Amino acid sequence: MAQEYDLVILGGGTGGYVAAIRASQLGLKTAIVEKGKLGGTCLHNGCIPSKALLRSAEVYATTKKSEKFGIFASDVTFDFGKVQERKEAIVSQLHKGVQHLMKQGKIDVYEGTGRILGPSIFSPMPGTISVEMNNGDDNEMLIPKNVIVATGSRPRSLPGLEIDGEMVLSSDEALRLQSLPSSIIIVGGGVIGMEWASLLADFGVEVTVLEYAPRIIPTEDHEVSREMQRLMKKRGVKVVTGAKVLPETLSKDEGAAISAEVKGTDKEYKADKILVSVGRQANVEGFGIENTEIEIEKGFIAVNEFFQTKESHIYAIGDVIGGLQLAHVASHEGIIAVEHIAGKNPQPIDYTLVSKCIYSSPEAASVGLTEEEAKALGHKVKTGKFSFRAIGKALVFGESDGFVKIVADEETNDLLGVHMIGPHVTDMISEAGLAKVLDATPWEIAHTIHPHPTLSEAIGEAALAVDGRALHS
Ligand code: FAD
Repeated sequence: MAQEYDLVILGGGTGGYVAAIRASQLGLKTAIVEKGKLGGTCLHNGCIPSKALLRSAEVYATTKKSEKFGIFASDVTFDFGKVQERKEAIVSQLHKGVQHLMKQGKIDVYEGTGRILGPSIFSPMPGTISVEMNNGDDNEMLIPKNVIVATGSRPRSLPGLEIDGEMVLSSDEALRLQSLPSSIIIVGGGVIGMEWASLLADFGVEVTVLEYAPRIIPTEDHEVSREMQRLMKKRGVKVVTGAKVLPETLSKDEGAAISAEVKGTDKEYKADKILVSVGRQANVEGFGIENTEIEIEKGFIAVNEFFQTKESHIYAIGDVIGGLQLAHVASHEGIIAVEHIAGKNPQPIDYTLVSKCIYSSPEAASVGLTEEEAKALGHKVKTGKFSFRAIGKALVFGESDGFVKIVADEETNDLLGVHMIGPHVTDMISEAGLAKVLDATPWEIAHTIHPHPTLSEAIGEAALAVDGRALHS
């Protein structure tokens, strides 16, 4: 017999499961349909496993350099199998946590593939959902008043450079490697590419990054991007920018070889494996989109500011709608969609207030406009920059590369953007995020007394530097 729900969510990733929790808090009878595992990409193929590997790589690299701390650890080695086991244990613990949260919220979880069948006389808008159960049981029929599509995304490839899971990998396969290659070519120097470059280099893999744009992490502030490139090169990562990879030249005879056009000349690169990290493609198929009026724009589901699709009872959130494909964005979008369904008049998201992080070594983090974006929007810009070299805690950590940069409007003194590269900046960016949300000025940040000695002093000093008042530069 068909089950009725106030809300059915297709996809139990970070967007979907957080939306389900908020719906349960608001008293909506909710079901979630997940064909893989609750937690989705972030928990099983993204944020968490990649950070677990990054942490092991960082511990290994730091231990190898421990002499500078006066610690002598001879014959430092690693067991990649154990590194993977630790990663799996963390993922498994968090997976159980999400399952528990679903039970606690009395959210029905259907393990299978959900498909919108469209409206009928028995089930008007938005129509029945059929679930093809993973365990082979008969299809379940769900009759929802509202639907949220949170089907996420999958790795994109370049035509001709197809993922084979052996020699040409996406981040999904890379996360499950049981042993490390001795060399790798990473196609794409964006966030995922730089995280992989960092962790593989820390483990001693010879890394070459081929980036099409003139600079790596091209959406970040140009100074952060330049510093990242400098520090990666210092660690032995070969970074080639302006490199147009030529998929038709791929050969897999003795390891992988591929050519790229760099400054008008074709150059060949060789390695054991190739990792393709050129973005993510939305999962817009396989859930019955053809039975709906949902529109697709540039490969993503089109939505309004409350995440309603062309069919107002069907919402879409997270990676499947594009924009900032980040876990914290997906979950916040889910919350707004649910609050809209529940008639709570939520505030639309201001995407300029979203913090973005890169968990490589060094880390990078930012919120708001880059200097270039601010200028392009017509702001008369002033900036303040402060290096971690003059921060006591950074020297204590033995990690003094990088800086904090603040972009402000010269005429209004408005805080436009904050950009950081260096130790633990992904944990520091939230101060800047809060400052943006509260519309604070650099003056107000500077007059927030930052405790000494902390890395956050660099934020206070950068804010002072906006008006030429930095104390320790
Ligand atoms: P997903 O997490 O992809 O979940 C979608 C779910 O829907 C999947 O579980 C899928 O099985 C299910 N599904 C699809 N179709 C159906 C169907 N028809 N029926 C039932 N179920 C279906 N973001 C960060 O913020 N921080 C990070 O550090 C970070 N690191 C990343 C590292 C990597 C290597 C990758 C690949 C991504 C990373 N991301 C990170 C991005 C982040 O993982 C995504 O933005 C986030 O997972 C998007 O959540 P979502 O709910 O939209 O989709």
